[in-house]
Amino acid sequence: MALTEFELISRFFSRPETEREDVVLGIGDDCALLQVPAGMELAVSIDTLVEAIHFPPDTEPESLGHKALAVNLSDLAAMGAVPAWATLALTLPHSDSVWLEAFSRGFASLARRYQVQLIGGDTTRGPLNITVQVHGLLPAGAALRRDGAQPGDLIAVTGPLGDAGLALLALQNKYELAEFDSELRQRLEWPMPRLEVGQSLRGIARSAIDISDGLLADLGHIAEASGVGATLRLARLPLSRGVARYVKETGDWSLPLSAGDDYELCFSVPPARRSEAEHKALRAGCKLAWIGVIDVDPGIRCLTADDDLLDPVSRGYEHFHHP
Ligand code: ADP
Ligand code: MG
Repeated sequence: MALTEFELISRFFSRPETEREDVVLGIGDDCALLQVPAGMELAVSIDTLVEAIHFPPDTEPESLGHKALAVNLSDLAAMGAVPAWATLALTLPHSDSVWLEAFSRGFASLARRYQVQLIGGDTTRGPLNITVQVHGLLPAGAALRRDGAQPGDLIAVTGPLGDAGLALLALQNKYELAEFDSELRQRLEWPMPRLEVGQSLRGIARSAIDISDGLLADLGHIAEASGVGATLRLARLPLSRGVARYVKETGDWSLPLSAGDDYELCFSVPPARRSEAEHKALRAGCKLAWIGVIDVDPGIRCLTADDDLLDPVSRGYEHFHHP
């Protein structure tokens, strides 16, 4: 059933699942009005999902609603921010109420979990495009940034790498999994932002980023912003059984090193604070893997179990190059 733009907004988006006291005025006027508490900084980030580029056309709308918000919350997680508000710009080929119902359910349930209130947006007709902007709060000066890594820092990640990439290969029939478990597909379609860990690392991590474009690319951003380099030990990368098997069979490290969409955090801490970081992360439900060190020479080096440098082909930069 086709709905007008106003019917669509009022039916699916104007009754927020979360009602926050710091929202002076939510959906319905020309602007939302929000209160940022004194002494806090506003962390703002935006991400777009485009059909056929960021997700296949037959992706379940409920998982899209979840993922559109999750990838944005992941950016807040990487800064250590606490999420507060979101806006949603939806471009839809037609107003399909079944699709919208499922999409808004996926969005709302993640929003409820992290007390995020949807406070506005825009709705237009055109090729499917989902843009979410999130706003989070941070004590002034406390954000985890990309530019604070120092030589000697230890590098950690919050969870297994390459699962989303492997699920995508399997969905595209480019690789046959021995046991295509639903868990792997969850990692691609229902990523969970590492918000609790990010927040718990404030004051401990010297640099942080979320892994959306692959470990080498994203750690590369930390290295560049901080004016340092890094050396990784491949044997220490946390891998699911599926990804470990893939690497063993193909000798190709591109999934854990260069495939995107995992949304784990990568960060650096001074060695003296390693166990503190470990405890905080555990309390936030995360087992850290210590995968390497920050050093002076620019660039990211990957050492094999035999201490050899991994060759560029096995790093897989080209294979997973992002548009
Ligand atoms: P305007 O013409 O002033 O931009 P709109 O008609 O686009 O207003 O939107 C009316 C209200 O509905 C605004 O408060 C806007 O923020 C909200 N809104 C529109 N689309 C969405 C959406 N997809 N999700 C959430 N809020 C929306
Ligand atoms: Mg508008």
